[in-house]
Amino acid sequence: MRAVRPLASRPLTAAATAATAAALAAAGMLTVGAAPSHAAGCSGYVGLTFDDGPSDAHTPALLSALKQYGLRATMFNEGRYAAAYPAQVRAEAAAGMWIGDHSYTHPHLTQLSQAQVDSEISRTQQAIAAAGGGTPRLFRPPYGETDATVRAVAAKYGLTQVIWDVDSQDWNGATTDAIVQAVSRLTSGQVILMHEWPANTLAAIPRIAQTLASRGLCAGMISPQTGHAVAPTD
Ligand SMILES: [Zn+2]
Repeated sequence: MRAVRPLASRPLTAAATAATAAALAAAGMLTVGAAPSHAAGCSGYVGLTFDDGPSDAHTPALLSALKQYGLRATMFNEGRYAAAYPAQVRAEAAAGMWIGDHSYTHPHLTQLSQAQVDSEISRTQQAIAAAGGGTPRLFRPPYGETDATVRAVAAKYGLTQVIWDVDSQDWNGATTDAIVQAVSRLTSGQVILMHEWPANTLAAIPRIAQTLASRGLCAGMISPQTGHAVAPTD
């Protein structure tokens, strides 16, 4: 994996004009106003993902911890919860998180008709957008279960399917130690499955940040082009 050197960390000289910056921004090479405070130390990026939210019970504390430790993550929201807790969708976006589609009711999609899969995905896209979370470009099928029909419907909505490289097993009662260990196995570009509801996951956040930093890895976005973790572009 090639080392990532974010263009945004390159110092702009006094000679750089506003016009130059605007041209770079237009070319997608520079995010105007971005604070690349952590970019310089990043030898690679991993994708932290938290499924099954949002909720009033868990989202605020998770976002608070992620912000405190300078981590950004992808939140795969269920449409029914985006509709029920729209303020938490907005809070995720305001905290710098990326928001993905995790179906509306968390069914086993491979057991549904194409029309039912379409409804699950399209209603979630609408609920997240209506809440102010933007239109997702990433989709994670519940349980990681997918097939040609699910992939085709996701593609219809411009969604890139994202499963995971490492399963933290937080949904299965993994200890905080085990969750941190799982994060430590990530290599650049990889994605880890976590959830917004386990207490052990919340408790692991400080050590997840420490583990990544010790290895020169940063929490990145998941590219809609490749489904792999990359440097944030927004
Ligand atoms: Zn899930």
